[in-house]
Amino acid sequence: HRTLHNAAHGDSAPPAVTDRAAPPSQEFLDELAAASASLEGSTPEEIMRWAHETYAPQLAMGTAFGPEGCLLLSMLPQQAPDTYVFNLETGYQFQQTLDLRDRFAEKYGVEVDLLKPELSVPEYEALHDGPLYKTNPTQCCFDRKIRVLQKAAEGRRAWIVGLRRDQGPTRANTPIVGWDKKFGLVKIAPLAASTKNKVWSRIIKEDVPYNPLHDQGYPSIGCWPCTQKAGADGDERDGRWAGTGKTECGLHTEQDGSGI
Ligand code: SF4
Repeated sequence: HRTLHNAAHGDSAPPAVTDRAAPPSQEFLDELAAASASLEGSTPEEIMRWAHETYAPQLAMGTAFGPEGCLLLSMLPQQAPDTYVFNLETGYQFQQTLDLRDRFAEKYGVEVDLLKPELSVPEYEALHDGPLYKTNPTQCCFDRKIRVLQKAAEGRRAWIVGLRRDQGPTRANTPIVGWDKKFGLVKIAPLAASTKNKVWSRIIKEDVPYNPLHDQGYPSIGCWPCTQKAGADGDERDGRWAGTGKTECGLHTEQDGSGI
């Protein structure tokens, strides 16, 4: 029987891997929806504390070091200490992105685990006779992000993400707490109801490290082959997989292979 509370409260929850095989009960989904509704209007800090109280130590956070992730990382030591944090290191990230790992370790003592796919970039490109991001980005994202995250999800019950509803139409209905079918985890978005402006004003005011590429015209930063500069009035995820019609890598959508 799946409950919102973890083993620390005395229940003997089955391991998450087993959990993932079975669809959650309606009762469980209703509990999540109720928790989500009750957290509307809460601050991101309150939501993070709730996540920690409810799911630690089986709580994780994934970040691509976007502005939202950076802000959440800055709150982590106080609101959700000892949370396991990972970044999907596809081998195609910008050096400026990777540098943020050390900046957060220095400033906040937060260690972000760089999770790599089994095959290095040269091995992977040799296997596919060249870079797959050019011919089949969906498969590339699947192999280098989704599979890696599936592994990281083992033994966890919930993950914190930086999604915001105003990031674009695919994210407009993001709940604060929801069920992530793809990974068999509860997904918590403390900034779901926040806005781009609020996130940035806190980053500036609180001097949170962020990716310097944002100052060079990149609104959303992922792997370098699939990220371009975008015009000032576009959708926030413009510049990701530009010209392909793809706006999501599939981490945050129900279909395979289509955001972090
Ligand atoms: Fe591959 Fe591009 Fe996806 Fe990165 S964003 S995993 S390079 S397709």
